[in-house]
Amino acid sequence: MLNIDLHCHSSVSDGVLSPSGVVARAAANGVHVLALTDHDDVAGLAEAGVAADAAGIMLIPGVEISVSWGGQTVHIVGLRIDPLHPDLAAGLHGIRLGRIDRARRMAADLARHGIVGAYEGADSYAANKQMLGRTHFARWLVAQGHAPDMRTTFKRFLTPGHPGYVEHEWTSLANAVGWIRASGGMAVVAHPGRYAFKAHQLHLLLDAFRALGGEGIEVMTGSHHPSEYGKFADLARAFSLKASRGADFHAPGEGVDIGCLPALPHYCQPVWQNWPELASLHSLSTA
Ligand code: AMP
Ligand code: MN
Ligand code: MN
Ligand code: MN
Repeated sequence: MLNIDLHCHSSVSDGVLSPSGVVARAAANGVHVLALTDHDDVAGLAEAGVAADAAGIMLIPGVEISVSWGGQTVHIVGLRIDPLHPDLAAGLHGIRLGRIDRARRMAADLARHGIVGAYEGADSYAANKQMLGRTHFARWLVAQGHAPDMRTTFKRFLTPGHPGYVEHEWTSLANAVGWIRASGGMAVVAHPGRYAFKAHQLHLLLDAFRALGGEGIEVMTGSHHPSEYGKFADLARAFSLKASRGADFHAPGEGVDIGCLPALPHYCQPVWQNWPELASLHSLSTA
């Protein structure tokens, strides 16, 4: 069986390993095909590609784009993108500028709650100064003793109704899917189980996504409880969306490790079904 993992993060966004470190970990875990999908940035793909060649695994160029839809943040993964495509590059650059402004507002809100120095603190955890996110704030809050671990930090801070959370307008669903498709890639709805939508809202999202040319949805993700896999496999089938598998790995010891999720249910159509670059690998899966 081919081990395919199509969602993970490096230190270019909010992961802790370098792009080559992520690839080395994937190879050690027996992954054959890996997509690096950093938030709103593609700057790790060149290094990851070199490391993947050296390790003998296949790297799929990816990205995870932050979108505002229906009053919530939704993440859209792009797979087989061209990181040099000008529309995609310009769009991601705009999102990163917005992140810096949001980080200043988050720090100001934390300061109002008596926690000062959060911008500089979070920034010290960000290898890529353009890609400042809530995870960097969370790592700093843990180090400062405001919460014992990342999970608790997101319960006490940085989420709606808690210190450090601010509203933010990301890009539109149409922009994200449009940039991904313009660059030759496939758009995939990330971790559908994480959104606080009612069922009918999620269905509206998937209808809108498909109408824009979106093709896939994550079924197996580190964000889903095993009891949810079947529900999202059924949803993929009901909406004629292809199914993806990716751990959403960020750091050793946090969540699911790269390549360690169960396989897709047999009745799912995988997103990688017709990818030409995988043709030579399929002999492996039957060998
Ligand atoms: P941002 O895009 O900056 O709003 O940050 C979103 C990131 O925060 C996600 O990709 C996760 O890495 C992290 N995150 C969000 N919620 C949680 C949580 N409950 N526990 C741990 N990490 C979380
Ligand atoms: Mn993240
Ligand atoms: Mn995500
Ligand atoms: Mn992710």
